[in-house]
Amino acid sequence: MLLPTLADRPDRVALRFGSDSVTYGDLARAAKGTAAALAGAQRVAVWATPTVHTCLAVVGALAAGIPVVPINPKTGERELAHIVADSAPDVVLAAPEVDLPPALAGLPRLTAGPGEGLLPEEADPEAPAFIVYTSGTTGPPKGVLLPRRAIATNLDALAAAWEWTGSDTVVHALPLFHVHGLILGVLGPLRLGGTVWHLGRFDSAAAGAALAGAGTVMFGVPTMYHRLAADCEADPALAAAFGQARLLVSGSAALPARDHDRITAATGQRVVERYGMTETLMNCAIRAAAERRPGTVGPAVDGVEVRVVGETGAAVADGEIGEIEVRGPNLFLGYLNRPDATAEAFRDGWFRTGDVAVREPDGYLRIVGRRATDLIKSGGYKIGAGEIENALLEHPGVVEAAVTGEPDEDLGERIVAWVVTTEPRPAERELVDHVAGLLSPHKRPRVVRYLDALPRNELGKVTKRALG
Ligand code: ATP
Ligand code: MG
Repeated sequence: MLLPTLADRPDRVALRFGSDSVTYGDLARAAKGTAAALAGAQRVAVWATPTVHTCLAVVGALAAGIPVVPINPKTGERELAHIVADSAPDVVLAAPEVDLPPALAGLPRLTAGPGEGLLPEEADPEAPAFIVYTSGTTGPPKGVLLPRRAIATNLDALAAAWEWTGSDTVVHALPLFHVHGLILGVLGPLRLGGTVWHLGRFDSAAAGAALAGAGTVMFGVPTMYHRLAADCEADPALAAAFGQARLLVSGSAALPARDHDRITAATGQRVVERYGMTETLMNCAIRAAAERRPGTVGPAVDGVEVRVVGETGAAVADGEIGEIEVRGPNLFLGYLNRPDATAEAFRDGWFRTGDVAVREPDGYLRIVGRRATDLIKSGGYKIGAGEIENALLEHPGVVEAAVTGEPDEDLGERIVAWVVTTEPRPAERELVDHVAGLLSPHKRPRVVRYLDALPRNELGKVTKRALG
């Protein structure tokens, strides 16, 4: 069962959003009512605002066994038209106060809410529970068919890794249309009988207050931890609140080494990273009780196999860069309407993540970045963008950094550094020498480009295809 907790603990708080709170009893009634209202639907779009309504809608549709397409309310017109045409929902669940855009306005519309009756029987574990669109970092978003089996087994593996139980209250401010916020941040606590404490939007003071209160664990993306680092340095009481949290977890993109160090220095706490994708849910995680090695995402979670391979598909030696491949019960069923992309994504039963990493001898992975944008082949070397980005960030004048490769006649590719700096700007020569001195000369950027801000998507991921 995906949510065994719906039947018991009626008085325990399941969801907290600002002043709204919902008990497990309320949630079970909403699930019954929503499931009954959805009878006969084939696929339901959920207008995924960061509100209680979204959680009730998702739980109701899951109870009914109807696949959910969570939709980012900020999706632009063209992308939304693509998602709606691709996923073909026959009903939309949205909070009453929402004005739906034209692409969805023609569909029958329902509001999740309480009702009577019995919860329907649990759907087949292999049936798709969700169609989640990828973040679109590397190309147009693809619809990922996620079966209930993947969600249930992955949440159990994370519970084991993080000693995560129904006594935990998970604090976050993540969007509810991606795996991170919706599956880890909402279904995770609900599967265990714990509490979700959603902040609406991220604010260090509100997160700190929640953790000083009932909150025990926080989930966040690197841009949030970056702000938190600065805020904790400025405010010792805030730093103390984060310092006594049971666990701070970061994911969706790499947390730069400098932010890890700043948070540890201010709070005494080491942030735990985990690595996952829409297609695979979580592949690796640092265990709560194991060594928290900054710059790594830990070993594979229980039940998941992870390997690092070269271009031929053979495993590379520990310490060498290769692509991450994954196998296990966490894998998706395929991309919706994209048999070509699905076939391309697998090799001999292993899912090819497109991410590159180095494996340490004890199985901890150090993610280098994405094969397509972060692995630079220059002068016969394979160079990971992340290492150079971390080195640039160690320069006091560099606020943000992204490194890419550009075609170069001599080198194959040349290293380009895109930086946001303090004023006055550190000179190009100074930044180049700084990297060459810290790493090695062949890793120095050949070109430095100054920007006011890096292009980022809603999870704070740098969209490198927008550079250049
Ligand atoms: P698209 O597939 O549409 O280009 P996307 O890959 O960003 O977008 P997601 O499935 O949301 O969409 O993100 C998964 C990716 O996020 C991973 O493949 C990896 O590159 C990155 N990622 C997640 N966690 C981490 C982490 N801890 N460190 C580094 N990268 C991470
Ligand atoms: Mg991807």
